[in-house]
Amino acid sequence: MILNPNLRAYVRQHAEDRPGIYRMLGPEKEVLYVGKSVRVKSRLLSYFRAEPGEKSAKLIRNTLSIEWDYVPNEFAALVKEMRLIKRWRPRYNVEHKRKRSFAFIKITREPAPRILPVARILPDGATYFGPFPRPKFLALTLGDLSHVLGLRDCPGTTPIVFGDQLEMFARGRAPRCIRTQTGSCLGPCFGGCVSTDYALKVETARRFLEARSQKPLRLLQGEMEKASVALDFEYAAIVRDRLERLGDLQREVVAFRGRVEGLSFVYRVPGFKGNDRLYLIRKGLVEEDIPDPRGKTGRQRAAKKVEDVFKAPPPEMGALTQEAASEILLVARWFRLREREMDRVLEPDEWLSAYAPS
Ligand code: SF4
Repeated sequence: MILNPNLRAYVRQHAEDRPGIYRMLGPEKEVLYVGKSVRVKSRLLSYFRAEPGEKSAKLIRNTLSIEWDYVPNEFAALVKEMRLIKRWRPRYNVEHKRKRSFAFIKITREPAPRILPVARILPDGATYFGPFPRPKFLALTLGDLSHVLGLRDCPGTTPIVFGDQLEMFARGRAPRCIRTQTGSCLGPCFGGCVSTDYALKVETARRFLEARSQKPLRLLQGEMEKASVALDFEYAAIVRDRLERLGDLQREVVAFRGRVEGLSFVYRVPGFKGNDRLYLIRKGLVEEDIPDPRGKTGRQRAAKKVEDVFKAPPPEMGALTQEAASEILLVARWFRLREREMDRVLEPDEWLSAYAPS
């Protein structure tokens, strides 16, 4: 362990100016902070020049030792940094994290399913869409979708009794909230609908989120026109806003899914001192990181990896973890901000026909 007074000298003597990941460790060797840089030495030395009061000054004051690993390039540094932060959740990364939250759409697996915005994916058999970068917009708009289709949004603990079950259960149940009065819920809490009708509405919601149905938009359009005819312009304006939000949501879902599907390729990145790498990226996830092969044997090995990764069955949506979602967003952002990096990618089949030995 390198004690604080010696840290600067240690860094100056041992670190190199090349891409890497560094870790600042506290008294218990706990990881206080994980960072990345394309020039590790310069970056680390900059901490010692921080003005009092700056986050970097406070961090270096509390740091008892520093460790670092080199990586071949900036992309590798970015991905590794994100994975380590997710694994260790270092105090200084978490406290100073820029608020960039995202959410998923969940269709619950319940007798009367709900459509909810959620922060994480659980292995619970529900259907998930996402991730999406605008949680507040999502919450509002999923409320619109549930209301227009008559789906419930009450707690999961609400007892459910469909109309076709009333023979088995006591009659005379009353609605548990006012949504049935406004006609915005089919009322599966009191036998207000039969199970097949409710299931059909859920299916419509699912198809809408897959852009295979426009029914919710048509229903809102009809509602808006009725309100206009009745000269209820205030309500018509409310419905128009809902209509716009739902249209935006559907476009966003489709565009995002398309962008994630499109993030499937072999990405070649030149590395430090010729350590060029191939990143096998599938649906936004870095599945493999291998050397850019030079000889025939290396190309054979790489071709096998490319086939293994891209011909494997696609991962289930429900298997997507929060960490995976973060990685998808990070990879999407990398290519969005650096359009020229797309010149370095090849579709798996293109790569195989160009480089796999025959
Ligand atoms: S009417 Fe019943 S099922 Fe519908 S949201 Fe209210 S409590 Fe839930």
